[in-house]
Amino acid sequence: MTEQIHVMEPGGGQQKPHFVLVPLFAQGHMIPMVDLACLLAARGALVTVVTTPFNSTRFKALIDRANACGLLIRLAELRFPGAEVGLPEGCENLDHIRTHEEVIKYFLALSMMAGPLVACLRQQWPKPTCLVSDSCNPWTRSVARELGLLRFIFHGPSCFFLLCSRNVHEYASSGDVPGDMFQPFFIPGLPQKIEVVRAQALRFFDYPGREKLQEQVTEAEATADGLIINTFRELEAPYLDLYQKALGKTIWPIGPVSLANKEAEYTVLRGNKTTANEAERISNWLDAKDTASVTYVSFGTLAANSPSHTFEIGTGLEASNRPFIWVIRQRDMLPEVEKWLPELEERTRSRGLILKGWAPQVMILSHPSVGAFLTHCGWNSTLEALSLGVPMITWPHLSDQFLNENLVVKVLRTGVALKPQMNTRFVSRESEGLIAREDVERAIEAVMDGGEEAQARRQRAKQLAIEAKKAMEPGGSSYESLTLMIQHVLDDTVVTDA
Ligand code: UDP
Repeated sequence: MTEQIHVMEPGGGQQKPHFVLVPLFAQGHMIPMVDLACLLAARGALVTVVTTPFNSTRFKALIDRANACGLLIRLAELRFPGAEVGLPEGCENLDHIRTHEEVIKYFLALSMMAGPLVACLRQQWPKPTCLVSDSCNPWTRSVARELGLLRFIFHGPSCFFLLCSRNVHEYASSGDVPGDMFQPFFIPGLPQKIEVVRAQALRFFDYPGREKLQEQVTEAEATADGLIINTFRELEAPYLDLYQKALGKTIWPIGPVSLANKEAEYTVLRGNKTTANEAERISNWLDAKDTASVTYVSFGTLAANSPSHTFEIGTGLEASNRPFIWVIRQRDMLPEVEKWLPELEERTRSRGLILKGWAPQVMILSHPSVGAFLTHCGWNSTLEALSLGVPMITWPHLSDQFLNENLVVKVLRTGVALKPQMNTRFVSRESEGLIAREDVERAIEAVMDGGEEAQARRQRAKQLAIEAKKAMEPGGSSYESLTLMIQHVLDDTVVTDA
């Protein structure tokens, strides 16, 4: 624990600031929110994380561990009203959702949690002082209003994505942005030329049937008391400045929050518990490999791959002739894949480790043997790789991932695109034949071949990792940003209580 901050009660007693964090129930949103909880608690705050019965099972072990280390983090478990909107039993996390209709129902069910959350927070002691809401939970606006709480928005994605997708929307009727979803253009209002198609630069809910939700999300951001973004100033300074100017709001960049997991034990528990045996098996496997020789392959928690794409990835990894760890999600383990995989495992036994379901990603990326990360460019994965100095091979599947790829490949130049030429079919994950084994082989070679370009890329990645760590240390930009955010809450609480 680094620092203790207290707020004076009117009677002269001291009270800790009490933050209530309301994540979106999706791994890519809950994980950084729980990291933020640890960071706030390490500064002496009391933190309540709102969750549901199923979702707490994924985080309980980490929270228990944090509590045992003296961090004051509570879980406030509310029932998820899925049944009321016709969602199947136990469907509490976005990774359970399969169809567009279920997405709509899921967000409707979330909004129905407002009343129960107000009732739950009224019973909390000490009284909450500030609500931090995932940007995808606009319904928390009424909760904060009813309880008279400060309300901050927590943005999971990069500021580059937030700015670009906002600009594309704002300039949509100006003629600078084509109406056609697949016609290339340069994103307006950026310091450099970044060419995309519109389908790659949409805001989170710019999809048919979700317009109202997008409106509510925009409104909740516009009326918030401040924005917290999981990024660091040295990484995204121009975009942070432009976004701040566009919104006229205070932004606190406080990341990379994954660096809150300093101890190896946290990296194993993060997001889902990995057993000690499994962690040891992976660790031993990595220990036996040369420095920066292993390609780690994972596509996050929501992206899906067709069997034919899975075959191309597998055979591409085989053809690379280099060691690899490949995480295959349960949802991608279709009968064709189940049948095909054992043979590939057999052929690559000496240098391949295939993990099914969940892997302790930060633990793996932290290992010196990992030299490349083939990723879908989810912002958490991207930032984890950046903060650990691992060059990336990028294959975005959906949502903000396309713009994150642009940031990594064109701006930061710490990654190579799996498919360098603009391929508009890239935006449809149903499309077959997007990638071939040769793409995988070529991209791994480009990152690992030790040539001048590869070395310069690796060097840039290492430099960013140094800056990321510095940002999170006392005196660093993100550390001080978090201090300012907490101070803002304390100042407001004192004024309110006076
Ligand atoms: N993750 C993990 N193990 C896995 C898959 C994912 O630890 O097997 C973590 C990963 O480290 C990251 C998060 O889950 O923190 C995924 O978030 P991201 O934004 O990268 O992608 P999303 O899943 O939201 O598409």
